[in-house]
Amino acid sequence: MRRKLAAGNWKMNGTSAALAELETLAKAAPPAETDVLICPPATLISRASHVAENSHIQIGGQDCHAANSGAHTGDVAADMLHDAGASHVILGHSERREDHGETNEVVRTKAATAWEAGLITVICVGETLSEREAENTLDIIGGQLAGSIPDAATGENLVVAYEPVWAIGTGKVPTLSQIGDVHDFVRMRLERRFGEGIGRTVPILYGGSVKPSNAVEIFSVSNVDGALVGGASLKAADFQGIIDALA
Ligand code: PEP
Repeated sequence: MRRKLAAGNWKMNGTSAALAELETLAKAAPPAETDVLICPPATLISRASHVAENSHIQIGGQDCHAANSGAHTGDVAADMLHDAGASHVILGHSERREDHGETNEVVRTKAATAWEAGLITVICVGETLSEREAENTLDIIGGQLAGSIPDAATGENLVVAYEPVWAIGTGKVPTLSQIGDVHDFVRMRLERRFGEGIGRTVPILYGGSVKPSNAVEIFSVSNVDGALVGGASLKAADFQGIIDALA
């Protein structure tokens, strides 16, 4: 059976004071068969790992460089994230694809490096509004899956997050049947490429304006194994509501 995952992406939000929210989450009872991941800014990963130590909360990075080390001012290596206590890293978030011109190939190279460092990758895919309106959603998602995931994927090193770009931070959410169509398609593509064993084990998260008030219905959709949450992960009470909806 696939484990469920509630993953919070704090994006470029949070200084030391934000660790109080993590402390609150860490004190809650561990949910059954559900993993909980918080991806704070890189500056907080080490301290967040200490706060989350001995709790059910795992800590992740929001990006890593494609190289292991070297002359890349301002960048963070996968190995450094792992050393700081991270178990996961988000890759290919649409904000990285948009702000930093990350292509599928770049995401794929980063993923291979992250796996070498022992991190689990949360690889994001999603269509823009114009791509959806042009009825290109599945073509875009298929291309991103094929291009962004290295061949060495296993059920243990990969999580896929479907995040329609137009739903991120906008309060707009696709219909349940639109979410289901994409998640079933992602599952089918994973099974076809990696075989049923791996393809059925990889968790597929939905991301885009998930809140405690819509989480239960989103989690009822087939092949939705959890959520990647931005805004509603910043406050412990909101994120706990989403964790509870999944458990
Ligand atoms: C995200 O950043 O991955 C995200 C889904 O953001 P939000 O939940 O704020 O839409």
